[in-house]
Amino acid sequence: MTAQENISPATLWQQSQGHAPAGGGAPGVTFSVDVEDHLPAGAARRFPAMTRRLLDFMEGHGIAGTFFIEGSAARADPDLVREIARRGHEIGSHSYRHVALDRETPDAFRAGMRDTKRHLEDLVGTAVIGFRAPAFSLVPASRWAVGVLAELGFAYSSSVVPGPALIGGYPGAPRHPFKWAEGVLEIPCPVGRVGRWTVPFQGGMYLRYLPPWRYRWLQAQLGQQANWTYCHPYDIDVDEPFSRLAWCGWTASALLWANRGVTLRRWERLAAHSARPFVERLPEFTSQAGRKKALLF
Ligand SMILES: [Zn+2]
Repeated sequence: MTAQENISPATLWQQSQGHAPAGGGAPGVTFSVDVEDHLPAGAARRFPAMTRRLLDFMEGHGIAGTFFIEGSAARADPDLVREIARRGHEIGSHSYRHVALDRETPDAFRAGMRDTKRHLEDLVGTAVIGFRAPAFSLVPASRWAVGVLAELGFAYSSSVVPGPALIGGYPGAPRHPFKWAEGVLEIPCPVGRVGRWTVPFQGGMYLRYLPPWRYRWLQAQLGQQANWTYCHPYDIDVDEPFSRLAWCGWTASALLWANRGVTLRRWERLAAHSARPFVERLPEFTSQAGRKKALLF
């Protein structure tokens, strides 16, 4: 019997019904980590140690979060996946090979995602129902991917930057949780507006580079958005030697490499307001989506 047959997404969903929204009405912030190996094949693996450092940080602050794990990272270190689950976190999928969805074909994505979902479920013994696209690449050109997610049994996605953005971006998408026509719940990235750009300020490089006044100004724009933060193992890796990454230029490589000491300092401040993993907040997000059915995509 496979893990999927043991615990269905529906069971997980029902289990989550017992949890009230965090913060007694004041929205808390869900912590999420996109576990991936950004270094080229053959380079020494740094992501397992950094992921464990994040696990220690979260344990020290009593935080249970959601870890979206890239399929090839899970294959490279299955013990790490088991450890993340054992330490009380939800396991989600961060695609199978970290290629932007708009550069995938539906057939390749379906086959890769089917394998990686099964692999993660076999490792941890629970259903994997959450998905985060690489680099928020759920965009109008990759809208087809939602159908594949629904077909494979994913209940939710947190893959959309709702508006025009420098990376990814889905102009016209609601900023609050909403349901795609296929039934998959979308929990969009919390964003603020700077000029014409929509900025997913609550994680990644934005968290590392925004000056405090700008960061607080963007936080004030949160309103009724689902509040969550995200980082990658490399976002805290202050000791990684600089190298030009194969998938981007010198400038982007330097930006990705520098200023990594800021991430955990900002997470320290957010930790006091932590909320539960996504899977436990689905009733809350679903009710927000349900009130706004007119905005179905
Ligand atoms: Zn990623």
